[in-house]
Amino acid sequence: MTTENVLKPDFATNRKHFIFTDEHEQLRDSIRRFVIKELQPHSEEWEETTFPDWVFERMGELGFLGLDKPEAYGGQGGDYYTSLVLAEEIAHSRCGGLAMGIAVQTDMAMPPILAFGTEEQKREWAAPAIAGTKILCIGITEPDAGSDVAGIKTHAMKDGNEYVINGSKTFITNGHRAHAIVLVTKTDLDAGYDGFTLFIVPMDLPGVIREKRLKKLGMHASDTALLAFQDVRVPESAVLGQIGKGFYHIMWELQGERLIGAAGAVAGAQQVFDRTLEYAKERKAFGRSIGHFQVIRHKFAEMATKIETARQMVYTTAWRFQNGEYPVREITMAKVYASRIAVEVADECIQIHGGNGYMKEYGIERAWRDLRLNRIGAGTDEIMLDVIGRSYGL
Ligand SMILES: Cc1cc2nc3c(=O)[nH]c(=O)nc-3n(C[C@H](O)[C@H](O)[C@H](O)COP(=O)(O)OP(=O)(O)OC[C@H]3O[C@@H](n4cnc5c(N)ncnc54)[C@H](O)[C@@H]3O)c2cc1C
Repeated sequence: MTTENVLKPDFATNRKHFIFTDEHEQLRDSIRRFVIKELQPHSEEWEETTFPDWVFERMGELGFLGLDKPEAYGGQGGDYYTSLVLAEEIAHSRCGGLAMGIAVQTDMAMPPILAFGTEEQKREWAAPAIAGTKILCIGITEPDAGSDVAGIKTHAMKDGNEYVINGSKTFITNGHRAHAIVLVTKTDLDAGYDGFTLFIVPMDLPGVIREKRLKKLGMHASDTALLAFQDVRVPESAVLGQIGKGFYHIMWELQGERLIGAAGAVAGAQQVFDRTLEYAKERKAFGRSIGHFQVIRHKFAEMATKIETARQMVYTTAWRFQNGEYPVREITMAKVYASRIAVEVADECIQIHGGNGYMKEYGIERAWRDLRLNRIGAGTDEIMLDVIGRSYGL
């Protein structure tokens, strides 16, 4: 064997995963270019002000809010992987709150409308949401019921051919700006899991009160609302899906939300890793780059391995999802694992930055604060572990 024939690893090669085609990679390029050019420069400003509504319109105009949505409603008709590509590339905005606000629109509020909605509801809410001219939010959590979804109190009672809604929702992302909310209610207080019904409630109806803009640890670029519903009257046509099936509808919705959340967590971890790698190559101590200390090199090795493991879990699970399976156990595993490692990675990246990691200027502490939400939102770590454990009959 001559020296030219010797196989050498090429660590710089950008190898795409087999679930992605060249078209996906082109899409990735164009989303990344857009995000870096038009969103990332505002990252710091939006940390103070929350991101503006024009982002929805602009992304709608570019087709990015309907990548995997049906063409009949203005979507691009792509597969589930296109949605993954968006979740990954939007991490380049370095603005977790923005990524979350967009994901609420595309992967949380819209899917139940498209899956269970009437033709009229799809035209009235999904189509403009895809175009970015209407903003959506989703209301599950209440002040007294988060993990325990079955414990919600918001109810919708029949009155003639209307429903009257009373209750409250909290921690609602996009809640201050949304035109409509996909609302989880109880329509039969005695029917257990069969007593839930979803509604699409326009946010400008009398009795819908946007009470408080909640202040939080991270995700400052997103708005988070406490909402009250006081005798809000909606017609029967506001019911989304089947009456009494709302619990099952929302559990289905949560699967997509968790998988996209996992993809976002992996992408966020990769972002902070990449930035820290550059830093470790440049920052000198004791006459050499800190990255050349074995202990730091091993930190990178550990982080890279965790990120890659989480990514493979997300991709394999997405492949199952795309191919018609309903892989709840694997989605849950991907969600809990990706969320945890993303926080571990961000924490280690602060450490590698030393004092600079603690300073706002470097944006690493922000990445940690933003990523920290993943262990709570869309189902806490503890709930995820419980779902996995129960799936083994325990
Ligand atoms: C920034 C932000 C944005 C959000 N956006 C939205 C949104 O747009 N729409 C929406 O509906 N919700 C939203 N949420 C709510 C989020 O999904 C909930 O916070 C989450 O589901 C946890 O519920 P909780 O906060 O009520 O915690 P709790 O349910 O009160 O849990 C408290 C603790 O108890 C643990 N625990 C609870 N039950 C069990 C159990 N059975 N076994 C073991 N441990 C348990 C939990 O894991 C947690 O550690 C958002 C939250 C945040 C912070």
